[in-house]
Amino acid sequence: MTFEPDSLVAHGINLHAVFDLDALPDDIQAALRGCCDDLSRYRQLILFGHGGRQLWQSVAPLIAAGESADPIDTYSQQQVAAWWAARYPGLPYRVLYPGDAPVPLQRLGALAGWHHGSPFRVGINAQWGSWFAYRVLMLVDSAFAPTPKMVGDPPCASCVSRPCVSACPAQAMAGDGFAFEACVQYRLQPDSACRDRCLARQACPVGIEHRYDEAQLQYHYLRSLRSIEQFYSTRQRES
Ligand code: SF4
Ligand code: SF4
Repeated sequence: MTFEPDSLVAHGINLHAVFDLDALPDDIQAALRGCCDDLSRYRQLILFGHGGRQLWQSVAPLIAAGESADPIDTYSQQQVAAWWAARYPGLPYRVLYPGDAPVPLQRLGALAGWHHGSPFRVGINAQWGSWFAYRVLMLVDSAFAPTPKMVGDPPCASCVSRPCVSACPAQAMAGDGFAFEACVQYRLQPDSACRDRCLARQACPVGIEHRYDEAQLQYHYLRSLRSIEQFYSTRQRES
């Protein structure tokens, strides 16, 4: 049985990584045991993601129709479930993400070669830049060949001028590490240039041809801004 995600690629779910469960590092196996009570039923884990703009072209009409609270998650899960049922009928699987389980997506992304660290704390790789995201993680009882790690050096290791750092109006990356509070407080200002985007992320030249278009940027960043506003509003009420 071979792993053939061809029809998913056509729908914009164009990143895939198959892992053997028993080859995963101990900390990831422990994390999976913590969020799955029937782990022994499965032999592999598959991570799905999207890179670039193709997924958005499929999802944008669903967002406009307003039929789901989280249309990208809903669409991704539906596409993966339909592909699996058609391609591997009867083979058991269990979706861990999207969901409430605390799955270590970035650790898995690093193992897949998708995620390298960046100054603005969004994962980056040489092929897609920072313009990719995790869509679905599922346990499967399969014996596919594990996916080779995505090739490419960590882009930031050889980036001398670091335009992302100087592009940040809050200077959130000017010191050691990332000043999360400085970023958040700047984003919350009514006239902030980062209400619907991250200027640092946009300043990075890696994978620029895959950069999300305006509508996708605004969708993601305004959603995150609403979450931040709700968090601070709740904290203020409770203090
Ligand atoms: S601009 Fe340079 S340092 Fe900043 S994220 Fe891109 S590659 Fe990394
Ligand atoms: S969202 Fe704005 S303030 Fe926050 S890191 Fe990006 S550029 Fe800086």
